Amino acid sequence: MKKELCEDVIMDCAELLSKAHTVDAEENKEAVRVAGKELQFGGLEMKRLDAEGNTVLQSICFMKPENVDRSLAKEYCYAEENGVTAVYTVYPLKDQSERMQKWLNFFVMQLHEANERQNLVQDANYYRYHDPQTKHTNMAYFSECCDFYIKNKIIDRYTAMSVNLTDFTNLNLMIGSRNCDMVLIRYMDWLKEGLEDDEVVSRTSGDQFALLIRKEHEEMILEKLRSSDISYGTNPNDVVTVSAEAGIYRLTADVESHHNIIQAVSNALNVAKNSVQLQFAYYDPLTADASEKKKFYEEAFEKALINEDIHIFFQPKVSLKDYDLIGAEALSRWFVNGEILPPDSFIPILEETTRICELDFYVLGHVCKSIQSWIQHGVKPVKVSVNFSRRHLSNKNLVHDIVQVLDKYEVPHQYIEVELTETTIDADYEALKQIVYGLREYGIESSVDDFGMGYSSLSLIRDVPFKVLKIDKSFLGDKNVEPDERQRAMMKHVISMANDLGMECIAEGVENMEHVQLLKENKCYMAQGFLFNKPVPQEEFEEILTQS
Ligand code: C2E
Ligand code: MG
Ligand code: MG
Repeated sequence: MKKELCEDVIMDCAELLSKAHTVDAEENKEAVRVAGKELQFGGLEMKRLDAEGNTVLQSICFMKPENVDRSLAKEYCYAEENGVTAVYTVYPLKDQSERMQKWLNFFVMQLHEANERQNLVQDANYYRYHDPQTKHTNMAYFSECCDFYIKNKIIDRYTAMSVNLTDFTNLNLMIGSRNCDMVLIRYMDWLKEGLEDDEVVSRTSGDQFALLIRKEHEEMILEKLRSSDISYGTNPNDVVTVSAEAGIYRLTADVESHHNIIQAVSNALNVAKNSVQLQFAYYDPLTADASEKKKFYEEAFEKALINEDIHIFFQPKVSLKDYDLIGAEALSRWFVNGEILPPDSFIPILEETTRICELDFYVLGHVCKSIQSWIQHGVKPVKVSVNFSRRHLSNKNLVHDIVQVLDKYEVPHQYIEVELTETTIDADYEALKQIVYGLREYGIESSVDDFGMGYSSLSLIRDVPFKVLKIDKSFLGDKNVEPDERQRAMMKHVISMANDLGMECIAEGVENMEHVQLLKENKCYMAQGFLFNKPVPQEEFEEILTQS
């Protein structure tokens, strides 16, 4: 009998608890009936009081006023964490027996436990997104916000920051850890001042924070990070000056997940931490570590091709006899957020895989399209050379693939030249020979690029029928230093060898009139270099082309 009653009471408790927030004094009868049982006491009220005695939560209150003896109300108090007290007030029926009083005690205990369990669930949800020490949001909250904004395609409105307080360990020693805790709370409050609800200031660990703020608030936050006076007590002298280092990432629409953001701002923060002068460092894919940089380019490359973010620049080639335009070299320029990435920063990475081959065919396609359009507009094209990486050498169909692109755009074969660099590997050497012969059969000329650098050898130009020899810019040396006798002698013999072998010869890196003089003296009449033009965008090149 006793056990039965206990279970009934617990069941009633659970049911009533689940309805706690919908029950009020007016609906008491209803509540009691829903519980399926006439309870043996008049009423019960549960509230929580904070340290100052204010009611912070009132969970249950139901009465059967006509039967209740309010003068016999009995309070059961339980101390909870953080100075909160749970108070259960039981209003007994008018003729309450001693036995019933015991039941009531038992009931209250059960109710308290059930209530605690519910609180635990609420706490677990709260602490999933909040830091227990400062009550500010935490890393999980920051991460979920990032992913939410990415999903809703608004992430590019924000800047992410990883922030680390400078010298916080010393501050702990100076003012003690309790005060430091207060500094953290007040500092975060201060950072949040002036921000909107969609912006995030989360504590990620000790003295480290992650921020996701609107781009227009970036300067305001940086000003606060530079230096802020934070008060941690009631005394006017309880003030410390706090400054912080930050890794900053101005987010772009192509960010894929919070993982990339966290990685990027951490890398940038490391740059700031390791630097004597920098307090803030911006995430830059170029300064990111090698593997990350590689990953960045590989992932971004595919999109860049689709979005045509890689533009083709043209560098004119000129005749040194009359300074007329005689051709151009197509060079890749990758546009990222309005900035140009030079080929040296991404070509070597793409060359580690066959992605470079995709790039070269992309360039060839665009060049052919341009040439076709010039022809259609009555502008006489010049021969454009396209760089082909040695990675193509394993492609047995390379000649066929190149010819197919030219024919697709109906480009006369004499307007394209293929620039190749040499290789030291024998198998590749044979492949290179086949390709140059193959292209020649289709009327497409090849040039040996960067001659005099790295791997080029005399046997290469002896065995492979290149039409053009491009002398590497290093042969001309520094533009501010006049070529010495040895350089002059080398230049003279390379040019005369090329001429004797029936090859055309062009010099790269022509930057001043001394270079021009040297080339002419040695009968090299073709040049490419900053003296004449840097690589220019297509529209600019078209102007040069029409003027010539
Ligand atoms: P490269 O084929 O030898 O191209 C000539 C490079 O010399 C270009 O650098 C050009 O800007 C630079 N240059 C030209 N004149 C002067 C000068 O007077 N002074 C100096 N200091 N430099 C001069 P860029 O455009 O940075 O290209 C670097 C290299 O990247 C190219 O060397 C080429 O090997 C590679 N590259 C560029 N675009 C492509 C591409 O679409 N495919 C492949 N496979 N490689 C490419
Ligand atoms: Mg080249
Ligand atoms: Mg070159």
